[in-house]
Amino acid sequence: MFSSLLLDEPLLDALESLGFTEMTEVQESAIPKALEGKDLIVNAKTGSGKTLAFVLPLLQQILDNPQSVTQALILAPTRELCRQINKQCTLLAQYTDIRTAVIIGGEDPKYQLKALEKYPDVIIATPGRLLEHVKRNIIELEAINILVLDEADRMLAMGFSDQVIEVASRCNEECQTVLYSASFNQKKFKLLTDAILYEAEEIIVDDPRNNNLNITQLKIAADNSTHKLKLCDYILKNVDDDFKFSKAIVFANKRATVNSISGWLQSKEIPSAVIHSDISQDIRNQLLRKFRNNEINIIVATDVASRGLDITDLDLIINFDVPRNGEDYMHRIGRTGRMFDTGMAITLVDSQEWNQMISIENFLDVKCIERKIKTLTGKYAGPENRKSSGKAYGVKRKKKVTKKKVKKKIKSRIRDKKNIGKRRKPSEKESAVK
Ligand code: ADP
Ligand code: MG
Repeated sequence: MFSSLLLDEPLLDALESLGFTEMTEVQESAIPKALEGKDLIVNAKTGSGKTLAFVLPLLQQILDNPQSVTQALILAPTRELCRQINKQCTLLAQYTDIRTAVIIGGEDPKYQLKALEKYPDVIIATPGRLLEHVKRNIIELEAINILVLDEADRMLAMGFSDQVIEVASRCNEECQTVLYSASFNQKKFKLLTDAILYEAEEIIVDDPRNNNLNITQLKIAADNSTHKLKLCDYILKNVDDDFKFSKAIVFANKRATVNSISGWLQSKEIPSAVIHSDISQDIRNQLLRKFRNNEINIIVATDVASRGLDITDLDLIINFDVPRNGEDYMHRIGRTGRMFDTGMAITLVDSQEWNQMISIENFLDVKCIERKIKTLTGKYAGPENRKSSGKAYGVKRKKKVTKKKVKKKIKSRIRDKKNIGKRRKPSEKESAVK
């Protein structure tokens, strides 16, 4: 129960207005420790309420020690996630005087600068844009007492580690630093833990490889991209009771694939919106708003939309292609089956991708159910001969017979090795004569 946390009345009122009474597991474990001011590394599965687990103690700490400068900083890997965190922050702080500001790229800086003029207590930012402001002396970090890194592993994977470390080093010496993730990996985090954490406590609520049991995971074998497009078209027509959905996201690895899926769906009169890094931030925000408000029910996206987004009634994820690694897979499918909801994830797998999919399943210790769609059964039905791991036996490649390259001989003359023909240094005597 939140009431056991001795929070200030305005925060308890906000929780009540949001309809939250019971804490989730990660909240129960992390909030008391955070309130003690400890550095933390927290890992809990997607959709388990991590945002509130870091926002609530941070707000209480600000209420305990109000100051006229920014005290808390939350870093997140994507702009959309920053906006979403800000929303939850604002809702929880609605009965307090605590102000927040979002600092992200791709938006008119005018509004962001205006928000900064009002001395926000909390800044929520992507690392790159924040540092730009810091270097121009628009934002000072010296007074930051609480630093939160959400989806910390993703920030590392996106190459933000130097920036994150620089930000952390500019914060107050006493700053409490907390890392949140659903795919914590000790090795990958070592850089951060060594550089910016102090005697951090690890709170591993869910093993990073633990699966979200609320999600039914299927895979459908596909012949090629055209077959995959047909499968998408069938599922997204939303006529088959087995795959009924309210809202769906189709993920693909590349922007070009995202565009062609959306184009194909359009030609089949299935409206969808596209989100990837070439789409302007304003449009991305607008589309996401429409998706949240049920004006759009299908989004086709790259992994920019795979982390952290929490969207009500999103109950179907299609992986048009097999993600590059197990972590990306887990985060993509984790957009569904959040908190108490259930969801379905379908991965379309062609022969080239089969083994990659098995690696992901083995990594996450999950077995995706193989499904077929009767009217669209392709020629490929997974490998005929499988190893005990489920992988296809590799096709033995014939050794290419290549002609032995004959190395061109480079002339090496004795003359070059010795000093023959080179100018000799003039002797002292000779120099003296000059
Ligand atoms: P995560 O960051 O772990 O993926 P989120 O913080 O986005 O998960 O939370 C998932 C959903 O659960 C959000 O819609 C959030 O409002 C809701 N939620 C968080 N805490 C609680 C709670 N204690 N009771 C009910 N719902 C909650
Ligand atoms: Mg989250």
